Amino acid sequence: MKVTQNIEELESISIKKLKEKIDSIKTELPKEEQKVITFSKNFTLSLSNYCQNQCGYCFYNQRIHKENNEQNVVLIKEDKINELIQTGIRYGCTEALLMSGEAPDNYEVVQKELEKRKYSDFLQFVKHLSEKLLDENLLPHTNIGLLTIGQLKSLKEINASMGLMIESTCESLSNPGGVHEYSPSKTPENRTRHIANAGKLKIPFTTGLLIGIGEKFQDRVSDLLLIKELHQKYGHIQEVIIQNFTNKIGIPYRPKKPISIEETLKTAGIARLIFRNESAVQVPPNLILNYEKEALEMGVNDFGGVSPFTLDYINPDHSWPKIDFLEKICKSNGYELRERLPIYEKYINKKDFCPENIKKTINNINQNVRSKKNS
Ligand code: SF4
Repeated sequence: MKVTQNIEELESISIKKLKEKIDSIKTELPKEEQKVITFSKNFTLSLSNYCQNQCGYCFYNQRIHKENNEQNVVLIKEDKINELIQTGIRYGCTEALLMSGEAPDNYEVVQKELEKRKYSDFLQFVKHLSEKLLDENLLPHTNIGLLTIGQLKSLKEINASMGLMIESTCESLSNPGGVHEYSPSKTPENRTRHIANAGKLKIPFTTGLLIGIGEKFQDRVSDLLLIKELHQKYGHIQEVIIQNFTNKIGIPYRPKKPISIEETLKTAGIARLIFRNESAVQVPPNLILNYEKEALEMGVNDFGGVSPFTLDYINPDHSWPKIDFLEKICKSNGYELRERLPIYEKYINKKDFCPENIKKTINNINQNVRSKKNS
């Protein structure tokens, strides 16, 4: 009953009142942190876009015809991996985002390619790649869809952090006509179990909402509360992303009224009220372009992974803003844009959250930065 009342209060809260509450939450931080907004300089390795689901809003999976003649990726080629790694190093990236469709090796064509390259399954390929990235002093952050606790465990040792969006646990999205009608694995139970398992394993974790996909305001708030509950239990949610759906040509989902940036940022503000200063609140800057000031006012304190050279594969029409541009906007609003690693600072020394070989890579990265500064 109390939760319902809270949700009603949150729905009717004015933007002015929301800003006041957010400002007061920020004052609980040390002064030097109140005006800092972080980002991670990253690049994406899109490993395979074969996916066992078909979410109505997804442009990425192999069933969607790509306008720009881009080919489906059965399994990213070795020379492409090497090229991306070298470019990432040149740009000074510290994070490599490993993404794919869910369980791509359920497809024979992917399985055959794995066999040809002497991998027993897709997980083994991801593990091999994570190790290769660590050898290059790049920190892997893997988000390849649902995994079992055993699979998560085997990736923990070689990933700085991992992620899975909860998106929305609204059950009606799986009904006929809903965006998850043809996504059998996207059940609230599966998503919640995955995030809870990551918590049990002490994996620094990124999750969040995808909004504007047919859910209601109440669903968003109850999902934020669910994430908060998981975090209170396991202490592993380092950031919560509020990602707005954007229209794309060729996908089945076409809402009559796409979610506005204002509503997206109000949701981010509510996330800040719920998470206070415990977890970062992130909006992807390429999806809220020209609303950066409003995002800062709504308590957004992270712009996530920003790539100097790879696409946002989920929203390919929305290119990443330049880091200089974000820096300027932050400065003109009295904020400092600060680079972070894919594992948030407070998790590096949090007991059992950061494996030794990840710490070693972080040290190498820090030393590189230092030697560059001193040269
Ligand atoms: S959103 Fe993810 S799970 Fe859904 S179809 Fe796309 S790649 Fe697959």
